[in-house]
Amino acid sequence: MTDERPAPSAPATPVQLRACLDALPAYTPGRAASDRADVTAYKISSNENPYPPLPSVLDVVRDAAGSMNRYPDMAVSGLTTALAARLAVPVQWLALGPGSVGVLGQLIAATCEAGDEVVFAWRSFEAYPILVTLAGAVPVQVPLTDADRHDLEAMAAAITPRTRVVLVCTPNNPTGTTVGDAELEAFLDRVPSDVLVVLDEAYLEFVTAPDSPDALAVLRSRPNVAVLRTFSKAYGLAGLRVGYAVAHEPVAEALRKAAIPFGVNSLAQAAAVASLEAVDELEVRVKELVAERERVVAALREQGWRLPDAQANFVWFGLGADTSAFAAACHEAGLTVRPYGHDGVRATIAEREANDRLIEVAGAFRARRSS
Ligand SMILES: *Cc1c(COP(=O)(O)O)cnc(C)c1O
Repeated sequence: MTDERPAPSAPATPVQLRACLDALPAYTPGRAASDRADVTAYKISSNENPYPPLPSVLDVVRDAAGSMNRYPDMAVSGLTTALAARLAVPVQWLALGPGSVGVLGQLIAATCEAGDEVVFAWRSFEAYPILVTLAGAVPVQVPLTDADRHDLEAMAAAITPRTRVVLVCTPNNPTGTTVGDAELEAFLDRVPSDVLVVLDEAYLEFVTAPDSPDALAVLRSRPNVAVLRTFSKAYGLAGLRVGYAVAHEPVAEALRKAAIPFGVNSLAQAAAVASLEAVDELEVRVKELVAERERVVAALREQGWRLPDAQANFVWFGLGADTSAFAAACHEAGLTVRPYGHDGVRATIAEREANDRLIEVAGAFRARRSS
């Protein structure tokens, strides 16, 4: 999403703007890929799927484009029916939106009054503090453990009578770690039944950890759990904006009420349905990305990097004070990565050549630092 360079401050205006905006970073577009003429540049800063759209999906989108003078189906009926069948849940349990970030905005709007609290780990997904703050709610950020994992004990302890929502990002963006099923159950046992726990599974399809929770099974037995998923990452539809929540009917209905009318555009609806039909082809790509992830992680560990468990389509370098130097070295080599302050760098698993170059740059960086 946002880059961490300071944005130019906006000119003064007599218009009254909400004070909560002062707490938000101004949006600055992501840094463009480096412009070296001698190498192919790769943008590995947004966790995008490197594969081009499937031909079958592209055909459907082309057809749908012919009706773009019409509003989309406001109820998103076709996609909702297809998803309900795929997930074996009632259609009443689904709420769709423009990306799962859009659905999360609906969720905060549906649960939080001004001053209510939303607990989440930090670092985690950068959209969380933005959506919470914009709603007039209060972000409560609980530091990750030393192993870059959610500290579910501390998150449970951070719940107060003002808490309305707890966000659990698994795998966590940007560190890539998952929560275990046993620790999640123990955590959920401690959460009051009127607090909604959201499992953000944007990267679910890339997970191989055997103790990873079965979120839909957890959801079935707990009325205060919701699951967020997206077509942006494994399904490669980031540019079309479609994601969804699965929740018990009263919660899902509230999310549908909080939606911006016609928020899921007709191309996105058509592409998502076609993608569900092509799920076998998409799974082959996901498997290849996971194999690449394992190859990259093994090579980096061989170089001496200590990396957290990588369960999504990216790796996390906990670089501390070396963060910007490493990002600059990547940029110099034609790789745009995502630096986070003085915490570290996230790099997306992408085309094989990009992955090879990441290994090369990381190896040279370590060699320079230790010499
Ligand atoms: C990418 C991502 C999403 C999904 O975003 P979309 O709005 O669906 O594109 C949600 N949560 C996390 C943690 C992510 O990294």
